[in-house]
Amino acid sequence: MVSDEFSGMISTIRDQTSWNKTGFQFKMQRNGYCSKIPFAFLIVFSILLMFLVVQQRSKTFEVNGGDAKINVLAGGGGAQTETPEVAGKTNIFWFTLICHAWLVYEFLQDFLQIQEMFHLNKFLTNFLLPGHDKGSCLSRYESAVYRKPSSHKPSPYLLSKLRKYESLHKLCGPYTESYNKTLEQLKSGRNVISTTDCNYLVYTPLSGLGNRMLTIASAFLYALLTNRVLLVEFGSEIAGLFCEPFQQTTWLLPMDFPLRNQFDNFSQVYPRTYGNMLKSGIMNTSMMSPPPPFLYIYLAYNIDRYDGLFYCDQNQDQLRKVPWLVMKSNQYFVPSLFLLPSFKQELSKLFPDEETVFHHLGRYLFQPSNEAWGLITRFYRAYLSKADERIGIQVRVFDTKVTPFQTVVDQILSCTIKEKLLPDVLETRGSAASLSKNQSLKAVLVTSLYSEYYEHIKGVYWTKPTVSGEVIGVYQPSHEEHELYGNNMHSMKAWTEIYLLSMSNALITSSWSTFGYVAQSLGGLKPWILYRPLNGTAPDPPCVRAMSMEPCFHFPPSHGCKAEVNVDHVKHCEDVEWGLKLVKDH
Ligand code: GDP
Repeated sequence: MVSDEFSGMISTIRDQTSWNKTGFQFKMQRNGYCSKIPFAFLIVFSILLMFLVVQQRSKTFEVNGGDAKINVLAGGGGAQTETPEVAGKTNIFWFTLICHAWLVYEFLQDFLQIQEMFHLNKFLTNFLLPGHDKGSCLSRYESAVYRKPSSHKPSPYLLSKLRKYESLHKLCGPYTESYNKTLEQLKSGRNVISTTDCNYLVYTPLSGLGNRMLTIASAFLYALLTNRVLLVEFGSEIAGLFCEPFQQTTWLLPMDFPLRNQFDNFSQVYPRTYGNMLKSGIMNTSMMSPPPPFLYIYLAYNIDRYDGLFYCDQNQDQLRKVPWLVMKSNQYFVPSLFLLPSFKQELSKLFPDEETVFHHLGRYLFQPSNEAWGLITRFYRAYLSKADERIGIQVRVFDTKVTPFQTVVDQILSCTIKEKLLPDVLETRGSAASLSKNQSLKAVLVTSLYSEYYEHIKGVYWTKPTVSGEVIGVYQPSHEEHELYGNNMHSMKAWTEIYLLSMSNALITSSWSTFGYVAQSLGGLKPWILYRPLNGTAPDPPCVRAMSMEPCFHFPPSHGCKAEVNVDHVKHCEDVEWGLKLVKDH
């Protein structure tokens, strides 16, 4: 019986290959499962043909004045003259030889490219953990077939750090001996010096899916830097969206975790946050021996001066000794970790290319669950896979009352046309596209809570022909109308759409949206950002190209400690003037 996985691969290969004017071709995404046999056969065939031509040539090439026939390729020595007939044959011989050499070269190139893809798939699979049960997370094995492999390779140092982290997580994960021991300390409430090597960081949820994914990745990086084990509390909204990233253990916070019942009270004003304890003098940076068994760290959009001390080296020294840190944040706080002198060296080894942090950590942590993968692949194969190019347009309107629909639509179209992402249309309705023109197909994926933007763009490209002759298909997976809290299917759709956007060849995003940030970083794409319309009027220019694929940290602390601020790889964001983002340091 052919397994689902195998038949999935076969149909994807069919989707991604085609015959056209130049013969059998791979489309944008060559895939790693393609058979190497036809290529090997063609190479052998070409070599054989060359060999026969040479044989033939050797037979007819006569040496002047003698009966002996000498194979010139073997080096005949002696002066030779050729008759015009022989000279003509020589030309044909060389021509044939060059043609075949070229053919062999072409086939070899394709062959090597497929080999490279094959190894890259294997490498990516390794990056995402060896030894996983395939059936429990199909996306981990199939994503390389659907998505162009990343051109950004993780550093060997990052890979080895991840392997070490996985061992630590296995040692300290839920219900291990070490975990149970630290829980005893936690339940006792007494200040104690930890007796295990296991320290923890607990993530608690806040805001929408994009915010959560960015914060979890930031928390994971912080855990890597401080040798903590990350445990996550997703909440019912995002339960079941992702595969378990760690083998033979879990990153899910156990239901019987003793501090759970306090999570609802955990806000900025909660007296037991680290910031509030510093503010009230219950704690100061120099004291802490022995450390408390746990601390709440509040790092959301509205942090104050005291919460912000988390981003200071001196405070990090203090926090290092606390076995349990429980964090609430909705921010991508990675850029501020790069500004801390004590993390600087480690971060430069982990990420020699600074703009790849979320790209790598996001791909490592967030593999779609089988249910999400079903939604993603069914949509992709039905609407997007046949296109020569995919353009993602993410429309996030935060306040529909002050943002006129027509202004946003005009802004989107003027951006896509100005940046040559989509062609303009002819104003003559009804004229049929000439067959002699460019017949390529572009698929536009629109994501939005609303359907109007999609309806309008689809209408433009349906009712009028494009100037270039290209055919434009416009699709939208869902329009939920409102942000819904506590609704799992709503988040499942959001995750599907973020992932589909990340499969685009080019992406347009809305400013300020973490939904768009996740899509761009996962996809390794520098998007065109649509600025927010001000006072109802479209901005000029309508969009700008992002400096890097990294997300923006919307609310960084105003640094009161000795953190560096003028570093080349941390810049202010394009869409949030006080925000910070990582860019590649040239
Ligand atoms: P942000 O508010 O744009 O930064 O993004 P978040 O993902 O943090 O929160 C917005 C939430 O609204 C998402 O998690 C979704 O639940 C919902 N949402 C916003 N835009 C879309 C969209 O285009 N498609 C879907 N399906 N949901 C969306």
